[in-house]
Amino acid sequence: MTSSSADPSTLARQLPAGVLVTDPDILAGYRHDRAFDPDAAVPLAVVRATSTADVQTALRWAHENRVPVVPRGAGTSLSGGSGGLAGGIVLSTEKMRDITIDPATRTAVAGPGLLNAEVKAAAADHGLWYPPDPSSFEICSIGGNAATNAGGLCCVKYGVTSDYVLGLEVVLADGTAVRLGGPRLKDVAGLSLTKLFVGSEGTLGVITEVTLRLIPPQPPASTMVATFGSVEAAAAAVIAITATLRPAMLEFMDRTTINAVEDALRMDLDRGAEAMLIARSDAPGPAAAHEIEVMVRACRDAGAHDVFDTADPDEGEAFTAARRMAIPAVERLGSLLLEDVGVPLPMLPALVAGVAEIADLNAVTVAVIAHAGDGNTHPLIVYDPADEKMTERAHVAFGQIMDLAIDLGGTITGEHGVGRLKKPWLPAQVGPDVMALTRLIKNALDPRSILNPGAVL
Ligand SMILES: Cc1cc2nc3c(=O)[nH]c(=O)nc-3n(C[C@H](O)[C@H](O)[C@H](O)COP(=O)(O)OP(=O)(O)OC[C@H]3O[C@@H](n4cnc5c(N)ncnc54)[C@H](O)[C@@H]3O)c2cc1C
Repeated sequence: MTSSSADPSTLARQLPAGVLVTDPDILAGYRHDRAFDPDAAVPLAVVRATSTADVQTALRWAHENRVPVVPRGAGTSLSGGSGGLAGGIVLSTEKMRDITIDPATRTAVAGPGLLNAEVKAAAADHGLWYPPDPSSFEICSIGGNAATNAGGLCCVKYGVTSDYVLGLEVVLADGTAVRLGGPRLKDVAGLSLTKLFVGSEGTLGVITEVTLRLIPPQPPASTMVATFGSVEAAAAAVIAITATLRPAMLEFMDRTTINAVEDALRMDLDRGAEAMLIARSDAPGPAAAHEIEVMVRACRDAGAHDVFDTADPDEGEAFTAARRMAIPAVERLGSLLLEDVGVPLPMLPALVAGVAEIADLNAVTVAVIAHAGDGNTHPLIVYDPADEKMTERAHVAFGQIMDLAIDLGGTITGEHGVGRLKKPWLPAQVGPDVMALTRLIKNALDPRSILNPGAVL
């Protein structure tokens, strides 16, 4: 049982001045994340920690007083994982922003509050690259990326966040700080506890430092853009491309998304196309031209209307920027229920066809974007919250799409996390034994269930 009766002023006295915030105007900004869950609440207080010691102090107090704690990075969660809880505190790591790069070990040690883009920039200053690139890379934190095991556009070739996390400092529910892993490329001492915390969505501990693997910079990339008369044809092209090679990016947008992006950016996208693929090759030297040629052929064989390719990085970047703009552009059409379903690649055509059927059945608009090369799609269900019937149909479609992904041997979330919004579907995907194991781990690490209660479990 958690109690909300604890007085945050007793915590304020244990923290440096200004770290605990109770100003209602500021608290209001910590109610929602980018999923805009209507059930999220204005928290009791926000702790804007400046050090691991602040995090420890806050968690010791919360543990003792059984106060719920929502760890928060930049609040860009699309699964309702960082929204506020009534009677709880938000523990924000946004001010923990130190970074050191060690070119000798090719590692970065970063505070969790640093934005993904800032980590990339710091690595680039040393001629190195941090690959994971969620579309939100300019607005999401590296701590949030580790806590959600974020993916992104280049992950189809370069892997997801967990592939780059070598070590963590984590503060446990009772305030104990532990160091896991470190700047070592190989280290199998003990259980894989570092990986346990990556993707744990703030339910097992608060990440206060991340040690990241860096690699040499990405070679210049060539880009291919193809438009199609049907989403099924585009999905078929994806299967053909990935069966032959490993693209550095393979992204998909459907007609609704293309038009929303064109409305926002005016870059002359083909408004009549039913689907568009954007693919990249960063293979060295002439191999890039060969890979682009293979991708062009696969698209043409699948019935592409138009295919365009360029070795000019700026031109290629403009199309990537268009894809990154997709969610904000579709957000302009109405309120969104954001899906993140993924399937084994051969099932991708069945998934996109099934999503279209669900949209028709429920008479709702579903825009589809996808990190298609790794089978991870984002059907975005657009609805008007003022229309009660439409809202109801949108929620039915939301569940049906996750059921469909599970039936196709897929997942309810490929990268955004379960959060609060997808929690009801987790047992159907993983089954009772895995749910019981998950609860055992949660109870062992957070016996008073103060860490992000209601998320995931
Ligand atoms: C336009 C847009 C595009 C996006 N594109 C992508 C994409 O391509 N790929 C992708 O993976 N995601 C994407 N996202 C989702 C989101 O940006 C990621 O989930 C990101 O990793 C969240 O980072 P954050 O700092 O905003 O975390 P928050 O939203 O603050 O938190 C996310 C979760 O992590 C937990 N958490 C945060 N910080 C910590 C910490 N220090 N310790 C413990 N737990 C913590 C929170 O409790 C919560 O459960 C997108 C979001 C938007 C708005």
